[in-house]
Amino acid sequence: MKIIDGKKVSIEVLDEIKSSVDNRVKNNLKIPHLAAILVGNDGPSKTYVNSKIKACERVGFKSSLFKYSDSISENDLIDEIQKINNNDDIDGFIVQLPLPKDINQEKILSQVDPYKDVDGFHPINYGKMALGIDTFLPATPAGIIELIERFKIQTAGKKCLVIGRSQIVGRPISILLSQNKIFGNSTVTVAHSRTSNLEELCLESDLIISAIGKPEFIKGDMVKKGSTIIDVGITRVDDSSSHKGYRIAGDVDFNSVSSRVSFITPVPGGVGPMTIAMLLKNTLKACSLSD
Ligand code: NAD
Repeated sequence: MKIIDGKKVSIEVLDEIKSSVDNRVKNNLKIPHLAAILVGNDGPSKTYVNSKIKACERVGFKSSLFKYSDSISENDLIDEIQKINNNDDIDGFIVQLPLPKDINQEKILSQVDPYKDVDGFHPINYGKMALGIDTFLPATPAGIIELIERFKIQTAGKKCLVIGRSQIVGRPISILLSQNKIFGNSTVTVAHSRTSNLEELCLESDLIISAIGKPEFIKGDMVKKGSTIIDVGITRVDDSSSHKGYRIAGDVDFNSVSSRVSFITPVPGGVGPMTIAMLLKNTLKACSLSD
C-alpha cells in the first residue's frame, strides 16, 4: 500500500508557483493577487480562508481578505463583488462557501468575473470544464487530478466510483474522470444519498473518490483489493484527547481500508492541502492571462 501524500505534493506545487512568482518579479511582471470574501462567522470557513491567505504569503502572492457580517444583504454583497471585479490589482478571488442561508449562492457565484473566477464555479467556467475547454478547474477536483497524475494512477478503462454529487467535488470530478484526457477515460459511476447498492458498487471499483462528509463510513470490507481510494471528506469529530477538542476525520476508515488497497490518501494530509495549492495555481494562471 502506498500513501498518496497530498501534503508533500502540495508543497512541490507551491514551490513551483513560488519560482514562477520569483521569475515574474525578475521580469518586472505583476505579482499575483488573490482575494477572498468571507461572510459571517463560520469556524471552519475562517480556518480555510486563513490557510489560503497563509499559502499566498508562502508563494509571494499579494492577498486581501474582505469580511462581511452574516446580515449583509444579497444586493450589498453583489455590489462588493462588482468592486472586486473592477479592481485591476486583484487577479482572482473566491467567495468562501457556505454563504448564510438567506443569500442565494448561485446568484452570488454568477456575479464573479469569469476571468477572476479562480474557484471555477461561474457557470461559464463550469460549462467550459464540462466541455473539456481549458479553464479554471474547481480546486478540489483539480487537486485530485494532480495527485492522480503525479502518482501515475491508471484511470483509462478503470471502473471509478465517485461518492457524492456536490457541485464543488463529486459532480466535477465525475465529469473530469470520464473525459478523453490522460487522467480520464474512466468508466464513472456517481453514487449519492439515494443510491441503494453502494457496497456492491464500492467492491467492484478500481478507484473510489469519496466526498460525502460521513466520518469513517467506508470500511475495509467494502473495497476491492488493490484499488485506489481518494478520501475527500473532512469532518470535525469530538475528541477530548486533542487540545482543540476535536479531530479531523475522512470518509474512509483508514485502518481497515489501507491494508487492502494499493493507494490511499490520508486525512488530514491528502486532498485538503492540494485544494489550496490548486487555488493558487489558478490565481497564477489568471494573473498570467492578463499579462
Ligand atoms: P456535500 O456536503 O454538499 O454533499 C454530500 C454528498 O454526499 C451529497 O451529494 C449526498 O448525496 C452524498 N451522500 C450523503 N450520504 C451518502 C451515502 N450514505 N451514500 C452515498 N452518498 C451520500 O458535499 P461536498 O461539499 O462535496 O463535501 C463532502 C465532504 O468533502 C465534506 O466532508 C467536506 O468537508 C469535504 N470537502 C473537502 C474538501 C477538501 O479540500 N478536501 C473540499 C470540499 C469538500
